[in-house]
Amino acid sequence: MEPQRSPLLEVKGNIELKRPLVKASSRLPLPGSRFKRGPDQMEDALEPEKKRTRVLGTTTKFATSYPRAPALTAVPQTQGQTAAPKVPKRTGPRCSTAVATVLKNQKPGPAVPAKKPGTAAPPKPGGKKPSKRPAWDLKGQLCDLNAELKCCRERTQTLDQENQQLRDQLREAQQQATALGAERRTLEGDLASVRAQAEQGQRELGNLRARVLELEEWLGTQEGLVQELQKEQLELQEERRGLVIQLEERERRLQASEAALSDSQAEVASLRRETAAQAASLAERGERLHGLEMERRRLHNQLQELKGNIRVFCRVRPVLPGEPTPPPGFLLFPSGPGGPSDPPTHLSLFRSDERRGTLSGMPAAPTRHDFSFDRVFPPGSGQDEVFEEIAMLVQSALDGYPVCIFAYGQTGSGKTFTMEGGPGGDPQVEGLIPRALRHLFSVAGELSSQGWTYSFVVSYVEIYNETVRDLLATGTRKGHGGDCEIRRAGPGSEELVVTNARYVPVSCEKEVEALLHLARQNRAVARTAQNERSSRSHSVFQLQISGEHTGRGLQCGAPLNLVDLAGSERLDPGLALGPGERERLRETQAINSSLSTLGLVIMALSNKESHVPYRNSKLTYLLQNSLGGSAKMLMFVNISPLEENVSESLNSLRFASKVNQCVIGTAQANRK
Ligand code: ADP
Ligand code: MG
Repeated sequence: MEPQRSPLLEVKGNIELKRPLVKASSRLPLPGSRFKRGPDQMEDALEPEKKRTRVLGTTTKFATSYPRAPALTAVPQTQGQTAAPKVPKRTGPRCSTAVATVLKNQKPGPAVPAKKPGTAAPPKPGGKKPSKRPAWDLKGQLCDLNAELKCCRERTQTLDQENQQLRDQLREAQQQATALGAERRTLEGDLASVRAQAEQGQRELGNLRARVLELEEWLGTQEGLVQELQKEQLELQEERRGLVIQLEERERRLQASEAALSDSQAEVASLRRETAAQAASLAERGERLHGLEMERRRLHNQLQELKGNIRVFCRVRPVLPGEPTPPPGFLLFPSGPGGPSDPPTHLSLFRSDERRGTLSGMPAAPTRHDFSFDRVFPPGSGQDEVFEEIAMLVQSALDGYPVCIFAYGQTGSGKTFTMEGGPGGDPQVEGLIPRALRHLFSVAGELSSQGWTYSFVVSYVEIYNETVRDLLATGTRKGHGGDCEIRRAGPGSEELVVTNARYVPVSCEKEVEALLHLARQNRAVARTAQNERSSRSHSVFQLQISGEHTGRGLQCGAPLNLVDLAGSERLDPGLALGPGERERLRETQAINSSLSTLGLVIMALSNKESHVPYRNSKLTYLLQNSLGGSAKMLMFVNISPLEENVSESLNSLRFASKVNQCVIGTAQANRK
């Protein structure tokens, strides 16, 4: 099947190939189509006709020449037409030759010589040219000429007809030419339009080619993209396969997990039941624990009461470097009834009475003084050992019983060492105050699991010459801290407070350490060269303990007092009383007064007297709530190991023995 060409391309082809287009139109089925050529080709078209005419004879050239025809026709008209039919009809070539001859002769006109009439011989039949008549045969010549004229006339007539035909043909041809011209213009218009269209087509074709290139380029890019996408698709398919495998694996795991979960849920349900049972049991145990705690407190208190609500411990400090070694056997610590394994409770002091020896003239045997206390700590006893014994009392304070611990003794016997500790911050030599606080914080922490919440507030004052000073004073009051008075917390209140003194809440050992450090600084500022005031004043460390069991609506609170008493030494009555000594005497009298008041108060309490002289000294007034019937009291009597201090040691031991003989009425816990 032949491919269909677009009309546009066909037109273009025709424009490029001009000749074939003309040939094509020459094939149009019009009559006389051979004239349907361009005007410039008309002559060529007519050429065969000329050729056809030429074969008639050489004269035909002239026959087609219109201007000369009349000259030819004029000749026979003037010479008579009658002769013409007499002339035998001749064939074309013969006549044409004759005419050509005549015309040849006539052309130059006057130059043609005149022939003699009647001398012309008639032309021989058969086309043969008659032989030339002699010049004199004019008649013959005329005859020839007439024959020839006749022939020419015939010929002319024929030619006229032909001419007429040709004219008709020419007219027709001209009409056709005009029509063809019009057609040509139309075609030229068409051609121009087609050319414009072709140009437009070319432009469009160019645009389309550019577009095609562009699209091809785009196609290339897209193909690259498609390849990339295909690659990516392959990768994704690979990845998908991996993911499917993972998914399957996870589904397997999920199923396993679900199975495990259902097992776990069953287990959880069982555990919940168990937990509920345990919670119930725990509540029951909590209840029991609380009962046991209360029972423990009661038993603990009973134990303390059995031990005595007032106890006296004797502590002998070691001989310090540089001090004279006491004679052997100066102090003895006999074993208790249980043997050497029992903690010592006895102390024997041997005093050699020089005066007795002098009177008799013989050296007197040393006098033995035996003392018995709740516990005796020989020089080698450590701080921890001492604390162990009082930890029970600290526990009592936490249980809601007021506790008072005193350190009694002459200056330098180790009271401050026992209460606050040794120098240098060595934990081994920490005193009762930091140890008691640490113990309290620890036990309070344990009791919190049983629903108890404890808070602790510290105050630290010193009583010097019956004036109260705040040892926790800071800022401008530091070192002075005076203007303190002991007052009741409110009207009708039993609670006592020291005005202008700081009450600092504490919750950890570090805070307590900081307060003890501050107290030491305050004492150092107050110290003078002549007077070591700290040894001439009572330091009272008070810790207010408050406990609460919100779940049961229980509250308990009690003060724990740790008192470092002033030196108990007496002033030597033999000394001359200078201004300094007088001052010292006043101090000593104040100390002695307050210490004896303390003794009297304890005695009054022990004897259950109606009047207890608390008000006789600031110390007993401040401590009255911790010395009453519900309180527990412990007195450390600190003893110097030196023989030179024997007198003061005996005084201290005697005072402590008196206290030790006191029994304070059954203590009642301060429960609300
Ligand atoms: P006081 O407070 O009774 O005046 P101190 O506590 O200041 O006496 O003690 C006097 C000195 O003896 C201090 O240097 C102290 O370190 C030391 N001292 C007291 N008791 C002991 C002891 N048990 N062990 C070691 N040194 C002690
Ligand atoms: Mg001291």
